[in-house]
Amino acid sequence: MITRSSALLQRPESPSADVKPLSLPSAWQTQLSQAIRDPRELCRRLGLDDSWLPGAEAGHVLFEVRVPEAFLARMRYGDPHDPLLRQVLPLIAESANVPGYVTDPLEEAEHTPGPGLIHKYAGRVLLIASPACAVNCRYCFRRHFPYGDNSPSRAQWERSLDTLRQDASIHEAILSGGDPLAASDRQLAWLVERLEAIPHLKRLRLHTRLPVVIPDRIDDALSGWLGATRLQKVMVLHINHAQEIDQAVVEACERLKSAGVTLLNQSVLLRGVNDSVAALAQLSERLFEAGVLPYYLHVLDPVAGAAHFDVPDEEARELIAGLREVLPGFLLPRLVREVPGEASKTPL
Ligand SMILES: *Cc1c(COP(=O)(O)O)cnc(C)c1O
Repeated sequence: MITRSSALLQRPESPSADVKPLSLPSAWQTQLSQAIRDPRELCRRLGLDDSWLPGAEAGHVLFEVRVPEAFLARMRYGDPHDPLLRQVLPLIAESANVPGYVTDPLEEAEHTPGPGLIHKYAGRVLLIASPACAVNCRYCFRRHFPYGDNSPSRAQWERSLDTLRQDASIHEAILSGGDPLAASDRQLAWLVERLEAIPHLKRLRLHTRLPVVIPDRIDDALSGWLGATRLQKVMVLHINHAQEIDQAVVEACERLKSAGVTLLNQSVLLRGVNDSVAALAQLSERLFEAGVLPYYLHVLDPVAGAAHFDVPDEEARELIAGLREVLPGFLLPRLVREVPGEASKTPL
């Protein structure tokens, strides 16, 4: 017999239920809410000396610290130059005002046909499925993005869906963010159900870092709606260093492949993180061991606060040339830059 209270505790089946049932957070949601959000705590947990604190606190004011425990666990204790830590630790350099580094380097504000929608390239549209991210990467090109204006409500979704319905040239919906997988499975299943009802849509793509920083995100609920859709599925992960890929990430990738997802990876070329042939070669090798193909290697977008990550173009080209000598062609990522106004990413 189901008592009223136990019925309330069941996962909601329908998003349109009149009474909002009480649902327990999933394991990944708990991990998301318990991510480290205090710069002092981050320094303390990794055994950094006090000299790192002023930078961490100053940067935190500009763009808050956020690091899930599962990602922290892959960092080396006591090493301020750990390649994973470098991606998330604010430095005093973020406060510097560097000419050419701006708040909206990709001029996305000019390409939003509606809130939560970015249409820059032929055939594909990017939907901001969730303004939240599980991890705050210091080099994020959307670190100044006005997510407050882009946090999707159901009504906004309906308008975005209408835009897609009315444009038969669109074959691919790209869920991005923030991180689309920070949204609940209920919301995502609702959205995908509507997307797959649009006859001219063929593909569903997700750009996400969640399977990397919280591998438990790839649970049965996610595999359920993802495995069930008629749309072809592509997931573009974001991994910058081989050390990010531990056994839990490998297993998350296996679950995604079982759900019929093609796995690709995009990285950003970052000073102090992956700016060597050895680091990039190891990353490609490790990705392929996890069943993931390298897709893009982006040069840094000139976003204010991230200038210290920059690797000059000439050096980037030399790195790719060096990488070509040690890797099979299919493990070589395409070195690209995003140039506002161009019809695609621009090869370097
Ligand atoms: C990068 C990007 C895409 C996807 O480009 P691909 O070359 O297909 O990977 C789509 N829309 C926007 C706005 C983008 O920035």
